[in-house]
Formats: sequence, C-alpha cells, structure tokens
Amino acid sequence: MKPLGPIPAGYDAIDGVLAVGGKPVTHWVEQAGGTPLFLYSADLVGTRVAELRAAMPERLALHYAMKANPFPPLLTLMAGLVDGFDIASGGELEMAAKAGLPLDRVSFAGPGKRDGELEAAIRAGVTLNLESEGEAARAIAIGEKTGVTPRLAIRVNPDFDLKGSGMKMGGGAKPFGVDAERVPALVRTVLASGAEWRGFHIFAGSQALDAEAIAGTQAQTLALAGRLAEESGATLPHCNLGGGLGIPYFPGDTPADLALVGERLAEQFAKLPDVLAGTAFCMELGRYLVGEAGVYLARIVDRKVSHGEVFLVTDGGLHHQLAASGNFGTVVRRNYPSAIATRFDAPVEEEASIVGCLCTPLDKLADKGGFPRADVGDLAVVFCAGAYGASASPAAFLGQGPAMELLV
Ligand SMILES: *Cc1c(COP(=O)(O)O)cnc(C)c1O
Repeated sequence: MKPLGPIPAGYDAIDGVLAVGGKPVTHWVEQAGGTPLFLYSADLVGTRVAELRAAMPERLALHYAMKANPFPPLLTLMAGLVDGFDIASGGELEMAAKAGLPLDRVSFAGPGKRDGELEAAIRAGVTLNLESEGEAARAIAIGEKTGVTPRLAIRVNPDFDLKGSGMKMGGGAKPFGVDAERVPALVRTVLASGAEWRGFHIFAGSQALDAEAIAGTQAQTLALAGRLAEESGATLPHCNLGGGLGIPYFPGDTPADLALVGERLAEQFAKLPDVLAGTAFCMELGRYLVGEAGVYLARIVDRKVSHGEVFLVTDGGLHHQLAASGNFGTVVRRNYPSAIATRFDAPVEEEASIVGCLCTPLDKLADKGGFPRADVGDLAVVFCAGAYGASASPAAFLGQGPAMELLV
C-alpha cells in the first residue's frame, strides 16, 4: 500500500459521509446537479485568513494571488477578507473587474504582458509589477499615449531563492523580474518618467513548509529591498514580499510553523532601515489561503480488478485535477490526500487505485492507497483541491469539459 497525503484539518463526517460547510457532501452534489464537483468552504478560507492575520505583524497586508483559484464567488468572498489581489494576465484583470474587486488594490505581475494588457491595466489603475526594462518602456509609452499616469512597481529578480520551495521563482537566470543589480537604474527611469512610483515586488519562491527557510528569505528580501532603495535614491511606498507559505500535500508533509514566521517578521519590521520606514508591506498568497479549503468529488462509475489490483474508476480525472495526478510540476508521483467521501469514517479494508475516465495511464488520482471497500455510486474525494485545480487542468482534453464548482 502506498501512503496518502495528510487530510487537512477541518473535515469530519456526518452519518459516515464527509461534511463540508456543516452538510454532507452528498447534499452539495445533489444541489450542484452531480459530479465531478469542486466544493470550496467559505468557513475554512475565513479561518485560514484569520489565523494568518493573528500570526503576522499588523503592518503586513495580505494579498490573494488569483491564479490559485479565480472562481468568481470565491473572488467575491476574498474581497471581504484580504487587502489586495495579484493578477497575472489580462484575462484575470477582466475577471477581477467583473467580480467588482477594487482595482486600485490590484497588482499585475507576469512575463510577456502584451500592449493591450498593459493599456487595460493602466486605464484601470492597476499597479504593474514590471518584469523588464522593455516592459517599463512600453508601459511608460502607453501612459503618455493614453494620458493616464501608470502606477509602476519593479519586480526584482532576487539574487537568492527560497530554500526547500516547491517552485523557485528567483535566483540566477529567470524570465521573471529585473536582475537586482539593474534595478536602481530602472527605478530612476521610472521616477523620471512621471509615473506613479509604487515600489518593489520580490518573489523568491512558493510552496515551502520550512518556517526557518521562509523567515530567512523574508529577512533577505527586506535587506535587498533596503539596499536597492538606498542605491536608487528613492523611498518605497510599497514592497510586496512575495509568498512562500505552502500546504502539506504529500505523506510526511507537515504545516509550516506560522507563529515562527510571524515572530521573525515582527523582529525584522522592528529594525527596518530609514529608507523603508514608511513602506507598506504585503505578502501575496494563493494556495495557502484557499488550497486546503477545497475538495474535488468524483463519482465511482466502475469497480474493476485487473491482475489482482482494484481500480475505482471515476467520472473525474486529471482533466480537472492535473496536480493530484502528478503531472503538474512534480518529478516523482506521490499521492495527494484522498478518501472515499461516502464512507469517510470507515476503516481501511483494501488497497485500491482511484483513477479517472480518461484513456491514458497518467489519469490516476490515488495510486494503491488504503481505502474502505467502495462500490459503484460511492464518491471519491481528493483534498487540497482549492488551488490549482479547475483553472490549472486541461478540462478540454478528450472532450470532457469542466467540472462544476460550488462555494458553500
Ligand atoms: C503563483 C504566484 C503566487 C502564488 O503562489 P502560491 O504558491 O499559490 O502561494 C504569488 N505570486 C506570484 C508572483 C506568483 O507567480
């Protein structure tokens, strides 16, 4: 039997069935009109944000990185919980506008912004996190052409990365941000252009569980911001410290020690250099805010045995949950937390693989896990499905189409 990832806190059973938002998931499946279904819990998102705020210094604002999950009702919920949003495309800008998010509290990072996207963002009053000198020149020219003062920050490619992070976004040659040593010259160009100077965006990595590593990276980030501001001869109105906080997905993963990260950051804030004394700071997080608050439910449509192995074949699959299948940025496939939702408190009775309905051997949601005996009609559940699920999976593959989504 292969181990399964740890089921996040906050989930229990009602009459043997996994419950979300105080009701068994069978209730929500009926309400949604069937499966496959992504189910997101507003309570769990709210609890997560409250815990984070309690642990972090008050001076730290919280932004939501929309690419983790742009489901419109979730964006509306987040608008009441966080202080700002980070977008990474013109499409996300449209979704943000449609959801009624306050666009003056939105920042736009990401390489390869097209002129049309830059113009839409500038007109909307969104802060651009500039990824290169070329992008800066285009943004400034668009500002002049439209007569709208662009709000410009510089994304810095730091000269370090976040140790132990699942995804490194800084250190060495990167398509993201401007190499640290070229930043002061670009700051002076931005200031001279008459644009509204917004400060730095420094994102060193994400999906880390090691609190010491996260705290160490934040200290390096603040030191770098101070040094670059000093060299640029400009104070920073704002500094986005990036993200980093990950969630446990795999067997043996444990949550990051949030209290330690918060204490260390408070210590850092207490000894900031003069050039950062008036700076507003934020962290931008995606999966940490919403990942564990979502589950993916698929109906078992076939139960088969092949060469002695049990396969629970569902109506879902990697076209909705690419990451759980191990095909979204992992080298070795490991099991996400998963279970039989309709037998949630039953003991383990057999080894089985939960697979999807796609005609490819990659379509595996759980490989040889220990589960209660499940039959056709039961619901399989994959946890940690609130981030990088629906919007980060190839829903059009094999003509399957998207899953349903519900926020409760
Ligand atoms: C993807 C991304 C995030 C969010 O990362 P998570 O791991 O979901 O927290 C934040 N900021 C930037 C710039 C990103 O590219």
